[in-house]
Amino acid sequence: MKLRLPLSWVEWLGAHRVLRRPYFLACEVPEAPATLAPRVLYHEVRDGYPKWAHLTCPHCGEHIQLQTAQARQRWTLSVDWLNRPTVSPSIWETQGCGAHFFVRRGKLVWADGERR
Ligand SMILES: [Zn+2]
Repeated sequence: MKLRLPLSWVEWLGAHRVLRRPYFLACEVPEAPATLAPRVLYHEVRDGYPKWAHLTCPHCGEHIQLQTAQARQRWTLSVDWLNRPTVSPSIWETQGCGAHFFVRRGKLVWADGERR
């Protein structure tokens, strides 16, 4: 069994400066969320099966969907006990704004190293 703090606790600790809130926090949802909060990575898991990760693009705010379903897995998502997601490989919005970034332990890392 994996131990993980409830997301609300991590948000609380971040708000009270006990912890620094990472750029992204992950939360598991049973279906695709109707609206996405920025800086939250939603992992859609249906009946125990990973399907998609949903997040908003840190550059343009577009909805990004990453396939995490095992049969056609394109991305690997792991989440640590503080709900910090790590996604591999990188996320590259080739059809959209061109943003190219990594998510590592909740941190947003731009692939070009400088763009904000
Ligand atoms: Zn974008």
